[in-house]
Order: sequence, then C-alpha cells, then structure tokens
Amino acid sequence: MRPDIMAEEHKSISEREQEILAFWEQQKIFQKSLSQKAPKGNFVFFEGPPTANGKPGIHHAEARAFKDIIPRFRTMQGYRVERKGGWDTHGLPVELEVEKQLGFKSKKEIEEYGIAKFNAKCKESVWTYLKDWQEFTRRLGFWVDLENAYVTYKPEYVESLWWVIKQIWDKGLLYQDYRVTPHCPRCGTSLSSHELAQGYAEVKDLAVSAKFKIKGKNNEYFVAWTTTPWTLPANVALAVGTSIAYVKVKQGEDYLWLAKARSEVIGEGEVVEEVLGEKLVGMEYEPLYPFVHDAINGTEQEGKKAWYVASADFVTTTDGTGIVHTAVMYGADDFELGTKIGLPKYHLVKLDGTFVDKAGFLAGRLVTDEGVAIDIIKDLAHRGLLIKKEKYEHSYPHCWRCKSKIIYYAKDSWYIKMSTLREKMIKENKKIHWEPEHIQEGRFGEWLREVKDWAFSRERYWGTPLPIWVCKKCGEKKCVGSFQELKDASSDPSVVSSPSFDPHRPTVDEIVLKCEKCGGEAKRVPDVCDVWFDSGCMPYAQWHYPFENKAKIDPPSPRLRGTGKGEAYPADYISEAIDQTRGWFYTLL
Ligand SMILES: [Zn+2]
Ligand SMILES: [Zn+2]
Repeated sequence: MRPDIMAEEHKSISEREQEILAFWEQQKIFQKSLSQKAPKGNFVFFEGPPTANGKPGIHHAEARAFKDIIPRFRTMQGYRVERKGGWDTHGLPVELEVEKQLGFKSKKEIEEYGIAKFNAKCKESVWTYLKDWQEFTRRLGFWVDLENAYVTYKPEYVESLWWVIKQIWDKGLLYQDYRVTPHCPRCGTSLSSHELAQGYAEVKDLAVSAKFKIKGKNNEYFVAWTTTPWTLPANVALAVGTSIAYVKVKQGEDYLWLAKARSEVIGEGEVVEEVLGEKLVGMEYEPLYPFVHDAINGTEQEGKKAWYVASADFVTTTDGTGIVHTAVMYGADDFELGTKIGLPKYHLVKLDGTFVDKAGFLAGRLVTDEGVAIDIIKDLAHRGLLIKKEKYEHSYPHCWRCKSKIIYYAKDSWYIKMSTLREKMIKENKKIHWEPEHIQEGRFGEWLREVKDWAFSRERYWGTPLPIWVCKKCGEKKCVGSFQELKDASSDPSVVSSPSFDPHRPTVDEIVLKCEKCGGEAKRVPDVCDVWFDSGCMPYAQWHYPFENKAKIDPPSPRLRGTGKGEAYPADYISEAIDQTRGWFYTLL
C-alpha cells in the first residue's frame, strides 16, 4: 500500500474532518457551489436565527446538521441553495441579561440609568458568544454565509420590519386594545408568568357577597361573591352559566337570586322560583357604584351596554354564588367576556394601583390596602347591599421583587388581528409539506384553529420600536413604513438623514412628527415589538426588502415565463426544533 494512504488510515476521524474543513475553506467550495450553473434553479432555504448571547448547545448541533444536509443534497441535484445566516438580537432575554449584569431590579432603574446607555449595553451583549457560534458552525461543517448574515437590530433590518408593520396597518389589522396582565403596582411593571410563579403566598383576604338590585323589580337582587372587593366599584356585568340551575329565595322582604347548589351562602329562605341560567341572561341591574357609569359619559365608551347578566362558560358552582361579578379591566376571564360582548372598558385604577379621582370616596387610595376592602364593605352594609363578609384563605401572587400584592390589570397593548387571518393560514398550512407529517394537522393545525389575536407590543426598551406616532392634540395615529417617510413627516429631518441614524429607543422617541390632520405634534408610542416578529419577517427583512433586492421576493413579471416565485421567496426548506411550531413557524407563516 502506498505510504500516503496508510498515513491517511491512521488519522483519527477528527483529524480527517479538520483537513476536509480546511480544504473547503481554502478552495472556497461553498462559494463555488453557489456560483456554478444551477440547471434546476433556486432552492430557497431560510435560516432561523439563533441568539448569540447564549452559548450554542447540543440541540443546535442536531438542527444545524439537518439545516446542512438537505441543502447539500439539493445542490448535488443541480439547484442553487443560498444560505444566508442570521442573528436574533432583540428582546427581553437580552435585556434581562444586561439587567442582571448591572444589578437592576426594575424598569425605573433602567430609566434612571438612561435608555441610551442601557440599549448600548444590550447591543454589545448580543455578541457575547459570537466566536463560539462561529467556531461551532465551522466545525460542524454547516455551510452558511455568516459573513453576510442578517442582524435583526441593524437599521436596514428594522426598516423592513417597519414596512411590514405598515402593510399590516394599511390592511386595518393592527389595533390597540387592553390586555390583562399581572402587574406590580409598586414596581410599575408587568410580571412574566415565570416571575409570577415565584411569588405565590397563602394570604387571608376579605371576601364579600353583595346584592345587585334588579332593574324594574322591588327588592329583587342577584347575589355575587368576590375575594377582591376593590374590584366591585368597577363592576359592569354579572355572569351565569346557561345550564346551571338558579333559585329565587325569599328572605324577609328580599328576593335573592343565586345558584341552587350555592344557596347555603345566604342561609335560610323560601325557594319561590327555579330556572336555568339561560333565563336570567339579559336581565339588567343597577350599578353597584356610579363611578364607571358617570366617568364614561362623553368618552368613546359611552352608550356601550352594561350592568346586565351575560352567559359565560367559566362560571362554576364550586365556590361563590354561581353568579360571577365581572370587572372587565381586572381579570382575564372578565376581560375576555367584556371583549366578546362589548362591555365598556374604563379604568377606575391607575398603573400605580391607586383609584382615579373619579372614584368618589376611594379616590387616591391603594387598591390592595385592607382598609379599602373594609371601607367598601362598610359602605355596602350601610346601603343594605351586603349579604356577608368573611376571611378567605387562598394562595395569591405577590411581586417577587418587592413582595407587593399583584393586581390583574388591563393595559394598553397593540394587537394584530390574527383571528381574521385564521382561514387563510389554515389554507396555507395545507400546502406545506411537514416532516413528520402529523404536525400539519396536529400541533401546528390545532394552534392555527385556535389562533388568537397577537399581543404584539412590549413596554420595554431593546427591540424594534413600534413605528406609530399619535397626535397629542387630536389623537390621529400615523404608522411610518420607511425612514424616508419618517424624514418627510419629521419636524427635524436632519436626525433621520444623518448617516448614523439609529432607529432604536431613545433616538426614535425624540422624533416629533407634524400631524397631517391638525398640524399638532405627534409623539411615538413608547412600545417595542414582540421579538418573535423580528425573526418572523426575516424572509423580507434579511434582504432589506422592498428598499433593495426586489427580485429576491417579487415574482418576475408574468410576461417573462417564470416559476411565479421570487428568487428567494417563499422558502422550499426550513428546519427547526418542535418548540418553534408555535414560535417561529407561526410568525413566519
Ligand atoms: Zn414589585
Ligand atoms: Zn392632530
């Protein structure tokens, strides 16, 4: 045997791999595979961007092996397979990492430190493990173009995102609404579900059963129960289960309605009527407190029907009275019901947890103070509307940072109307070839059939700024779809035309637009976008489309016989882990 072959045989696999990798690099084999003739045309691959502020792990190796092998196979078959790398760089994980580094515990500390300095830190931290990623990718032999990788924080990437948002806006699919989130009134911030889980504690709260006077009847009332008496002034509806049995009980002069199974709550009495919940639906009652009623006069909430009985499937008879007090702004179920049937949405409580001025005797007081519950109970008793009060022991979430009681609070948030796109997405999903096949109708199909509107905005700092400006004078909203458009509308165009223009916060927050309607000053909404949106838009944004590279996306004109597809859109092949079915795959679709 020839000595060189023998030497070859004694090399370890690892040594041989290193030699092959070196050969590929020296001879630029990947580049050559792209520049050679491709008789079968383009095979489009999308790289799902990893975040380089975390170390690459073994699961990445598996994904990257698949991401590599299929494109190689297609190349051998005669396709050109461009493989543009990408990096996901925005979002809360990055912010939390930096907060940890700086020892911060609240948003307030970030703002005191300065958003500009904070975001600069975030930008820097994104690349902590870049070298590890580069070496990991090279060593795996994953052919991907990292030199021209897309980076989601780059201004041109952000500009494409703005363009996509503008398309959504123009179709009327972007809207503002409230969303109920766990909120710490002291820290002034939402808590994630993971943070929430850390702060549960057993507490004794005052629970109340109160009487809601039925309209047009004498001495006839619904009885509802709550463990958060502070939400009673914000009551706008009562909910019943349509197939639950309810009874009318005569007690002294009063007639009281509640679920048959819960009649013990009011004690002795004579049952004079029994009906199913569906019979109660639509009955109106008098507001327990006038605050919401009076405050919504003259607002866009005026005229919305409220203070009546609605049906809801979350009603049970395991506790309470089987009639559920509904305060739309302070509970997730309440809120969902309110949205479904169009109840008025009005805050009696500020973000710092205190009642608004229009809340009468409660104005300015912190809702979680026990004194507030006691005063509400006293007031109800005084008006003859109290059935009973009791100490109720339950597990309740507290802020893990400051131990304050959490409140559930509806906040301004921007949504994309995914629900109206449901049918379209289900249809598109049918065209996708899934491997394994069951995901199509299983995990992914189920998700699409249940798709809810996408809560799109985050009250954070390091992310793609939502390009919406609101006029301070007339409330007119403008969505900006490009830097040019921003420059044209800006009262100081020099900021945007500067070559070093950075579309992130806080620079972008300082840009004031002139309102097209009334000439007033328009300021940007403070939110940034959900980071999943960044990667979901990579088909366009990686090419800075439509500002450059139009041919990558747009199909050639029908006169030129073509495939009906752009050069790099849509994808022929994507490979990611299963958790991405409800993450990136979804936002991509
Ligand atoms: Zn707190
Ligand atoms: Zn205006």
